[in-house]
Amino acid sequence: MNKKLNNVYKSTCCYCGIGCGVEITVEKNQLISVAGDTQHPVNQGKLCSKGMNLQYTVNDRSDRLLYPEMRYHRSAPLQRVSWDDAMERTAAVFRALIAKYGPDSVAFYASGQCLTEEYYILNKLVKGFIGTNNIDTNSRLCMSSAVAAYKKTLGEDSVPICYDDIEIADCFLVTGANPAWCHPILWRRVEAHKAKNPATKIIVIDPRVTDTCALADLHLQINPGTDIVLNYALGRLLIEQGDMDLDFIEHHTEGYAQYKERVFERTLLESAAICGVAAEDIELAASYIGESKGFLSMWTMGLNQSVVGVNKNLSLIALNLITGKIGKPGSGPFSLTGQPNAMGGREVGGLANLLPAHRDMDNKTHRDELQQFWSGTIISGKPGLTATEMFEALADGRLKAIWILCTNPLTSMPNVRLVEKALHKAKFVVVQEISNKPQTLAFADVILPAAAWAEKEGTMTNSERRISHLHKAIDPPGEARPDAEIFSLFAEKMGFKGFAYQTPQDIYKEHVQLTVGTSITVQGLDYTLIDSLNTVQWPFNVDKKKGTARLFADNKFHTVSGRAQLHSPPVQYLSEMPDLNFPFILTTGRIRDQWHTMSKTGKVSKLNQHIQNAFLEIHPSDAVSLDLRDGQLANIYSLRGEVRVRARVSNSIKPGVVFLPMHWGKILGSDLNRANNLTNDLVDPISKEPDFKFCAVRVEKHIKR
Ligand code: SF4
Repeated sequence: MNKKLNNVYKSTCCYCGIGCGVEITVEKNQLISVAGDTQHPVNQGKLCSKGMNLQYTVNDRSDRLLYPEMRYHRSAPLQRVSWDDAMERTAAVFRALIAKYGPDSVAFYASGQCLTEEYYILNKLVKGFIGTNNIDTNSRLCMSSAVAAYKKTLGEDSVPICYDDIEIADCFLVTGANPAWCHPILWRRVEAHKAKNPATKIIVIDPRVTDTCALADLHLQINPGTDIVLNYALGRLLIEQGDMDLDFIEHHTEGYAQYKERVFERTLLESAAICGVAAEDIELAASYIGESKGFLSMWTMGLNQSVVGVNKNLSLIALNLITGKIGKPGSGPFSLTGQPNAMGGREVGGLANLLPAHRDMDNKTHRDELQQFWSGTIISGKPGLTATEMFEALADGRLKAIWILCTNPLTSMPNVRLVEKALHKAKFVVVQEISNKPQTLAFADVILPAAAWAEKEGTMTNSERRISHLHKAIDPPGEARPDAEIFSLFAEKMGFKGFAYQTPQDIYKEHVQLTVGTSITVQGLDYTLIDSLNTVQWPFNVDKKKGTARLFADNKFHTVSGRAQLHSPPVQYLSEMPDLNFPFILTTGRIRDQWHTMSKTGKVSKLNQHIQNAFLEIHPSDAVSLDLRDGQLANIYSLRGEVRVRARVSNSIKPGVVFLPMHWGKILGSDLNRANNLTNDLVDPISKEPDFKFCAVRVEKHIKR
């Protein structure tokens, strides 16, 4: 039973998208412990280092924002104000800007950590009442390439598999992901499965040797950016080996002839040379996939965060489609979500190009349905500004005001110096936050203190479409309020009707109503039912009172023709390429015990002990050529900025490639740890996801002058 028992509250970990269940024990409004929920289907009681240290993060309230603050011009000091004054002024400024410049002059930048109810109310407010689609979230930096690729291939932004497929699969292709560090509890399941079934094959594709490779039967250490070439080489070999499922291709897909033509454009040897791996290894990988009964392709940022992220996704999903390994036990494409509720956000339309319940923004009937349901304003069919576009528009004056909540763009955005310039230029900045640490606060005209995880109630959806109910365990400190409540207040000040919710469940019920008749229906679901079912996967069958573990078991896809679409885009290299001035390729990523920009994990000394400082991973041959030794300071330059960190000389990375962790921001006045000083704000033209995994840099040994 997923409900409060004495002083124990059930919830879900607020870090990665795996969605581990936790039990929070509380005494005197303080978390005593956070333990893995032994009855939870995802983790059966286990937690990774981040999850098991959650109580330290929540209990340390030394950095919490406690009351609203405001200033009338940037050089003035912030002053404590009442909620009423803060919301009154914010609404007055938004009304004035909208009246003068139109609704597209304001924007909201939110987070994949928001609860579904918070996402819902914000989308309703912005798209349904303010009349702009300028609401995007940091999920744009994370999963939007996978969203676009699912839609193009399967007709719907739907992860088709369930975690139980792990124990059925006999071949895993893990590409552009390090789940041993970034999705640890899920990876423990893969490890246990492999231990019991040693014949299970694990292929890892990554330019770096990571901890995930320790379990691999085969590691293809490709050159960064060559994923599509490799996926096409695998496709060609599967066809040559006769391992495709012709019946499935003929009856349930479209585009095979073009796909076949595309993958035969290049010989195996040519592909191997481009990717920088042995042709025999690609053949071995293809034989593992071809001989498998259950084939799971798992990926995350290494594919998504690219200027060709959607095409990388399409070329990978094609491997499941040509082998017919989708919709069957143990098989399917499986994107690993980086944030705890990026999925829930997408269900309620939480990106600038989405509408609730997977309705299409360019479909007038869908927009009209929503307008009628909300009794709001005309919903625009024009996609809103995406994450990077918002800051570009602030910088060039098209956008006048931005409301940032639960995210830290001055560490996490690419080419972060542009973001700084943009915030300087903004006419009005609202920051809704739990912590006094994010650098965005320095630019805020209004600061709104928000309730944190465990201090509010709502739902989240994990990477396998599993909805869980998070119970409120403790009260927020000071005057901090749940995000949904803050938006209700703002809506009231703006004069909008339909936001007087009494409880989070009232908001959830409205979301449920909007899903009725759609492919993601959760009709009939409420908090009590979620609790009694101990989480549930959408779509929910109201008659059977049961969720759906696996999608497309009937081979009916949600495309116009009902067939899955095989896409075969040309291979393109659109990233910033190295040259004589900037000869190295920089790739960025995560480390085991930190999450995002460290505003939560960075508070826990145990987690900080794993890796204490940002570092530059560089191959020994490159270090020798630069006269750089392990532990020495290195300066790294790109066209956009500079970073100075200590070198970690390691064979784990290919020559010509360097790696920086993405977590560190400004520390003690210095921002030289911040990887995003260097990264490029080029984006994928379809998903608008930035190219965090590829830009050109120069490395020099730091010489003290
Ligand atoms: Fe939390 Fe993810 Fe670790 Fe599970 S695997 S405990 S959801 S961070």
